[in-house]
Amino acid sequence: MRRRKQPNILYIMTDDHAAHAMSCYGSRINETVNLDRIASEGMRFDNCFCTNSICTPSRATILTGTWNHVNGVTTLATPMDNRLTTFPKLLREQGYQTAVIGKWHLGRGPAHQPTGFDYWNVLPGQGLYHDPIMIEQGEEKRFQGYVTDRITDFCLDWLEHRDPSRPFCLLCHHKAPHRPWQPAERHAALYEDIDIPAPETFDDDYSHRSRAAAEAKMRVDRDLNETDLKQPVPEGLSPEKERHWKYQRYIKDYLRCIAAVDESTGRLLNYLDRNGLYDDTIVVYTSDQGFFLGDHGWYDKRFMYEESLRMPFLVRYPREVVPGSVCRDIALNADFGPTFLDFAGIDVPGEMQGRSIRPLLQGRRPPDWRTSFYYRYWMHLSHHYVWAHYGIRTERYKLIYYYGEALGQKGAVDESKEPEWELFDLDLDPYELNSVYGDPRYAQTVRDLKDELHRLQAEVRDAPVAEIG
Ligand code: CA
Repeated sequence: MRRRKQPNILYIMTDDHAAHAMSCYGSRINETVNLDRIASEGMRFDNCFCTNSICTPSRATILTGTWNHVNGVTTLATPMDNRLTTFPKLLREQGYQTAVIGKWHLGRGPAHQPTGFDYWNVLPGQGLYHDPIMIEQGEEKRFQGYVTDRITDFCLDWLEHRDPSRPFCLLCHHKAPHRPWQPAERHAALYEDIDIPAPETFDDDYSHRSRAAAEAKMRVDRDLNETDLKQPVPEGLSPEKERHWKYQRYIKDYLRCIAAVDESTGRLLNYLDRNGLYDDTIVVYTSDQGFFLGDHGWYDKRFMYEESLRMPFLVRYPREVVPGSVCRDIALNADFGPTFLDFAGIDVPGEMQGRSIRPLLQGRRPPDWRTSFYYRYWMHLSHHYVWAHYGIRTERYKLIYYYGEALGQKGAVDESKEPEWELFDLDLDPYELNSVYGDPRYAQTVRDLKDELHRLQAEVRDAPVAEIG
């Protein structure tokens, strides 16, 4: 029997692009016509989440299909061992042409540089927005131009010169819209004459929650620096006016960076159209995690709160996905690899912990599909913005445990951090402003959720720390 044709995969991933800065997700602050096109021609996932909201760890989870305590990439300072099994390696072994172009951010040198790719051309570390240095197959070169445009050029060039008789898997990994949010020249004046509305929770005072929220070091009004703002703060502003001025500086540059990503995506989609690749190519748009867009008065990510936990995730594949469909089931970054392997007809190795979402894409929810998942953010020390925590999110609730110094990094002890729990009832409190952890009406819910937390922790083979309270 003839083997069914393996689909091509165009995987576009940005860095720190929150779903609520995409018009197909209901953004109130920008329009993303080309990203919206993927949603209208494919499926939008409203509950796709990362298992650790930080760049390097999320990328490792996506490639390996495993949680970070399994793949060893728990923090920004833990590069990925490139001998691990990844979905591009398995695709390549089965005849796919594979490439990664753009941000890698999983370490450098022989032990950490990309493996499993016929072609790779990546930024060193975070990389630069303008005239970026890139490492092309191990050789460092400087390229003129704006990083998002150049990454797109390299992707188009690779597609143009591929072997058309074999399927491809291209990972287009943009640096944008990562801090310090430097837009292309042509977008420098975008939004200049308008005021971007601040989010609902911009004035959050962090009451009714753990101290972790109040202690977080990512406030728009206090923690943005001059590189982020690109201008000195005007003198004589009231504290209120200064906050809003900083928010406008931050959010406009963030959205300008996204404007170039949207254009880039349009170029890639046009290429597929013009070259007869529309029907046989799975197109994915996602980002390595979400981001706070002034929500709770913050920029950045890390927290298990909704804005940083949720990933934008759009999938177009005309052969199996109904155009304009929406999925509200829980999908995870750990599912991406198993999904691509499933589409390619390759067995998902037992070591991968995610699960193929192909049935969800076909509009069929398996009866045993997950209704909860386990999250863990590992970076402990105070200069890392946010206290370490783990927890679970179900369809209605979120339970978070900030374990404080109970598990210190290299023995580091910060006695000011007492362990704390938070519980949010997302049906009643979608913005997570009021922890009901100590509320007696939720006592049974807390017990059930702790059982579920420990069940999931065991399932992914992580271990609880000593829990207090
Ligand atoms: Ca990121």
